[in-house]
Amino acid sequence: VNNGKKDMQIYDEQSTVLIVGGGLVGLSQALFLQYQGIPFVLVERHAETSILPRARGLHFRSMEFYREIGLEQEILAAGAESIKQQSGKPGGLRIGETLVTAQAQQIGFNLHNLMGMKELTPTSFCFCPQDILEPILLAALRQRGGDVRFSTELTGFEQDENGVVATIVEVGNVTTRHLRTDYLIAADGAHSPIRDALGITTSGKGTLEHYLNIYFLADLSELVQGRTFSQCQVENTHVRGTFAALNNTDRWIFHLSYNPEAGEKPEDFPPERCLELLRQAIGVSDIAIEIKSIGPWEAAVRVADRYQQGRILLVGDAAHLMPPWGGFGGNTGIADAHNLAWKLAAVIRGQATPALLSTYEMERRPVACVAGEQAALGTDVYTRYRIATATNAKDLEQQIDPLLVTLGYHYHSTAVIENGLVASAPTDPFTLTGEPGTRAPHSWFKRQGETVSTLDLVGTNFVLLAGEKGEAWCEAARMIAAGSGINLVAYRVGPTGDLQDLENEDTENHDHDALLVRPDGFVAWQSSQDTPATQETLSEVLKHILAWYPQIPLQGTSEKPA
Ligand SMILES: Cc1cc2nc3c(=O)[nH]c(=O)nc-3n(C[C@H](O)[C@H](O)[C@H](O)COP(=O)(O)OP(=O)(O)OC[C@H]3O[C@@H](n4cnc5c(N)ncnc54)[C@H](O)[C@@H]3O)c2cc1C
Repeated sequence: VNNGKKDMQIYDEQSTVLIVGGGLVGLSQALFLQYQGIPFVLVERHAETSILPRARGLHFRSMEFYREIGLEQEILAAGAESIKQQSGKPGGLRIGETLVTAQAQQIGFNLHNLMGMKELTPTSFCFCPQDILEPILLAALRQRGGDVRFSTELTGFEQDENGVVATIVEVGNVTTRHLRTDYLIAADGAHSPIRDALGITTSGKGTLEHYLNIYFLADLSELVQGRTFSQCQVENTHVRGTFAALNNTDRWIFHLSYNPEAGEKPEDFPPERCLELLRQAIGVSDIAIEIKSIGPWEAAVRVADRYQQGRILLVGDAAHLMPPWGGFGGNTGIADAHNLAWKLAAVIRGQATPALLSTYEMERRPVACVAGEQAALGTDVYTRYRIATATNAKDLEQQIDPLLVTLGYHYHSTAVIENGLVASAPTDPFTLTGEPGTRAPHSWFKRQGETVSTLDLVGTNFVLLAGEKGEAWCEAARMIAAGSGINLVAYRVGPTGDLQDLENEDTENHDHDALLVRPDGFVAWQSSQDTPATQETLSEVLKHILAWYPQIPLQGTSEKPA
């Protein structure tokens, strides 16, 4: 990608947002923007979505986003279909010299707990490999009228203070087009040519291990009968690597470890050699195997030092690369896209100033750093699954914690008004209380006869939740919404309110309180005992969140945005 100079006046077409990259995160970004009603063009250089089933598990936070845009049931059904043929429960870890001899391990941290956390989320963890998920996202985008252009590549761009001119070309065609866009989102993957062209550096532990991802078909159903697994780690004198089960019958991945320090290169592993190594890893010499693809990848931690340069924003692997252990990479990228979508929409609609966009990096970069550290911890299979051995007790003290990356983080930014107490320790997701900066706790409510989660109340709007005696707050919110056009919906919570909390009957202590939740489900602000329930209070709060500067310092805080 060439970041050269070009006459900014000359262009063939215009868009509000250009998304470069139609992988997992680019497609999700497009869907989230579409849901916000923001026009976009998405370009992807490949003709089709990737056939590589890289990410396999969607953490429940990702499923919350897909629930919001109406794709939860379809994704759950596709995930269920993909594992229907399995003989036995998916999940579990095996370790041994070969797949045939590998023994089941007692996993210390039960990942299934993460999958069935009914009290934390209205949805659930979903097993749905990336090669099954991406076509669903793409089909939904097209069905909903999205301008999605596959076989189209970005070859250059230039930005000024008013926009970006992107040079795009249909693959195989020589005629380039210049597209002028207000914002450009780089979802162009781990090697992000856009990030490089902008000169944005990365930090982190760097490369930890080298692998070849071998995606293959082989009927191993009899071999794994009664001993299904999620991952199986094998090591013998010929081969070292990890089997990842896609359906525990005929679709598999083997991550073959190779060592560049010993002079090994990906080219040293042609399909014939991979076949031989696969048979040595399985432990059966004459098994029929069809290799679908072989691709090198690095287990590495690299987080971009900046997520934004002018009107260009990085998301997904372009912003952060991390090893797949714990399944954080794709899930963190999807959450980036969700965080960015409502902010960009608010700025484009003129409801926020562009300064709101700087909170994207403030909020998401620290999460990527923690996710990267956690994923790096998982490099050792014993630490990854908290499996105690005679010598690793110390390592286990620093165990990987998927819940920390899923929900246990706390945003500190100008798009949050903190209560004065800045949490230094990770948030305990089990005790979410509505502290500003945390994801609003999920609770089931009755609303005019239907059952909805706290998270079903947001999406394209802010929501103000007031106590049962908080009519003044609701009235203030309605006045602001009507006068400003800001999407703000207000509810009184309580037995006689607009929402009846089906789980916490004791809401009396919060009768006069108010809580403002952002469109992404994160708590923006909480009233204190003596906060006046007026339109002025609420409008100052919103001005602060939406970055309308200069602004009056808020009660109880001297904080001013930078
Ligand atoms: C072996 C492996 C296992 C993994 N397992 C997990 C897991 O279990 N859980 C998890 O959450 N994550 C996992 N990941 C990570 C996950 O796959 C990535 O985080 C995810 O694919 C990132 O999505 P992305 O859209 O940011 O990037 P990509 O999927 O890399 O997509 C980027 C796209 O941009 C396109 N592109 C690049 N440049 C241009 C251009 N100039 N013009 C047009 N198009 C362009 C590319 O063709 C590509 O399609 C795994 C990764 C690997 C390698």
